[in-house]
Amino acid sequence: MNGAVSASSGRLGLMLTELRLPTIRRLASNLCAQSDSEGWPGQRLLEAVFEHEMAERETRRIDRHRAESALSPDKRLSSFDFAAVPSVSKAQVTALAEGQEWLDRGANVLLFGPPGVGKSHLVCGLGHALIDAGRRVLFTRCSDLVQRLQAARRDLRLPQELAKLDRFDLLILDDLSYVRRDQAETSVLFELIAERYEHKSLAITANTPFSQWGEVFVEPAMTLAAVDRLVHHSTILEMNVESYRRRAAQQGLAPAARKRR
Ligand code: ADP
Ligand code: MG
Repeated sequence: MNGAVSASSGRLGLMLTELRLPTIRRLASNLCAQSDSEGWPGQRLLEAVFEHEMAERETRRIDRHRAESALSPDKRLSSFDFAAVPSVSKAQVTALAEGQEWLDRGANVLLFGPPGVGKSHLVCGLGHALIDAGRRVLFTRCSDLVQRLQAARRDLRLPQELAKLDRFDLLILDDLSYVRRDQAETSVLFELIAERYEHKSLAITANTPFSQWGEVFVEPAMTLAAVDRLVHHSTILEMNVESYRRRAAQQGLAPAARKRR
């Protein structure tokens, strides 16, 4: 037991601090004590020690990814009421959250529907689930990102800025329809879509169907080319229901009374 006490306080403790292994430092006493009392072979002790360190690093990594993602912390799949959107199957969304090979293929998810139907909530929930699974996600309002990319183009560093976004397995562009006409003129959004095509995934929410995307891209040819690339490998979630906010406000609405599509 004396060995156990000295594990974290003596020379070993100093070495673990120097090596920046706080988790092992914290657990060393207990693990050594357990190893001594149960007569573990050396390899078992080492494995136990490094398993803890690896698990802790993984947790910290996921925490970092969540912090950088800019996702709303409370918009999770667990708090999404799928019954409110009969056109979207929970199984399909769960499959996107759990089987991530679509991210490896650079496939996309497109969510359409009027305001208030839960597009942002659902896509955030998907983002959180992917972070839990070890992926990197960035949530951004589409018009903010366009602004950032335009500034980068002015400073002749658009390629570098696009490369930064490459780190993310999934880039969420919320509210594509709110990109302003004058923003469209620099076509940075098109370049982003072309750059990520078949390479890195995008999730896009929009209030307007493809037919109205001419507002977002300058020329019809560019709109067509953008839509073509986005749709080529994509899951489209149509959410044409009544606003969840409005329904929540008219409380007391029984699920059975909800309008079916
Ligand atoms: P949209 O992005 O389509 O405009 P939001 O995702 O912002 O809609 O949803 C509006 C509000 O209603 C949010 O507070 C959201 O959490 C909530 N909400 C919408 N749909 C659902 C749902 N099916 N289950 C739970 N909350 C929902
Ligand atoms: Mg929204």
